[in-house]
Amino acid sequence: MAEILVLAEHANGDVKKVTWELITLARRFGEPAVVWTGPGAEQGQQSCAEFGAARIYVAGDAQFDDYVVAPTAELLAQLIRDKAPALVLIAGTAEGKEIAARLAVKTDSGLLTDAVDLTPGEDGNPVAEQSIFGGSTVVHSRVKRGTPIVAMRPHSVAPEPASGAADLSPVSLAGQVDGAKVTGRVVAERGERPDLTEASIVVSGGRGTGGAEGFQIIEKLADALGAAVGASRAVTDAGWYPHQFQVGQTGKTVSPQLYLAVGISGAIQHRAGMQTSKTIVAINKDGEAPIFELADFGVVGDLFKVVPQLIEEISKRK
Ligand SMILES: Cc1cc2nc3c(=O)[nH]c(=O)nc-3n(C[C@H](O)[C@H](O)[C@H](O)COP(=O)(O)OP(=O)(O)OC[C@H]3O[C@@H](n4cnc5c(N)ncnc54)[C@H](O)[C@@H]3O)c2cc1C
Repeated sequence: MAEILVLAEHANGDVKKVTWELITLARRFGEPAVVWTGPGAEQGQQSCAEFGAARIYVAGDAQFDDYVVAPTAELLAQLIRDKAPALVLIAGTAEGKEIAARLAVKTDSGLLTDAVDLTPGEDGNPVAEQSIFGGSTVVHSRVKRGTPIVAMRPHSVAPEPASGAADLSPVSLAGQVDGAKVTGRVVAERGERPDLTEASIVVSGGRGTGGAEGFQIIEKLADALGAAVGASRAVTDAGWYPHQFQVGQTGKTVSPQLYLAVGISGAIQHRAGMQTSKTIVAINKDGEAPIFELADFGVVGDLFKVVPQLIEEISKRK
């Protein structure tokens, strides 16, 4: 069976959920082989096995800590030459996409980014689904040259358990790699809430919240659900909430299991960043708001009346 390389995303030995998603996806095409760079593979082995990884190529070279993305791209290129995988899957994060692009150049292969699904075509080769032009068009595309490299948008696939051996197989870089070197690390200040792009639930607020004070209701709802907070550009431009939480074409792209749009009209630029969410719930006082065209469930009403009742119901169920 063909081998499918999956680049692991991990931190301090904890495997990120997107890695399980990629292993699950890899099983559609062949035998998943995880590529692990840096320390912690022994800690991550069990969870990779639980999602069906047949083996884990472990590269613990110091270079992986010293450099940003260059050694990982070089290692993957080396593995493509040595193992001839049928497909390489990488998380569509900022770092993942940079690695994928470098790998495509190194191996003269085709690259598909921001895929939201990947299925075998008639000939068994992967066909990616992508949402383009601000989310207004869905395209299906395939790689015609080299080894297909696909950067998948996180949360696009539900991880499904399956048992795998996840045998550890040491590999190392053939040579020294140049490139941008890490000179220092600073741990980002983070609250208790999950990261916006990784959260399985996102609660976003819009201009309907009326101001920074009104926006606090969005944080309360997010905390009741254990969710991340997002915001429309109207909110971030007005300074009601920081820009790093903006969802949309010029903000973050999210694809959680559940997205709540509260007091957001649903402009195309906002939709571009959230429309691949699995379930979308909208709360808006205007029954004609475009967000309802997209929503799976909607409540027409004043958010300052609806959201407190929602929080009360959620707290009763805890
Ligand atoms: C190049 C470009 C890039 C852009 N990028 C982004 C982007 O990345 N992300 C983004 O979000 N936007 C982006 N925009 C802006 C976008 O076009 C919209 O202006 C913006 O999304 C509107 O934000 P909003 O829905 O919060 O506000 P509005 O469109 O003003 O909608 C507010 C909604 O709240 C409802 N409402 C009001 N009061 C209440 C209440 N009490 N209870 C319930 N509902 C209420 C209203 O009915 C209305 O539907 C971009 C625009 C451009 C031109």
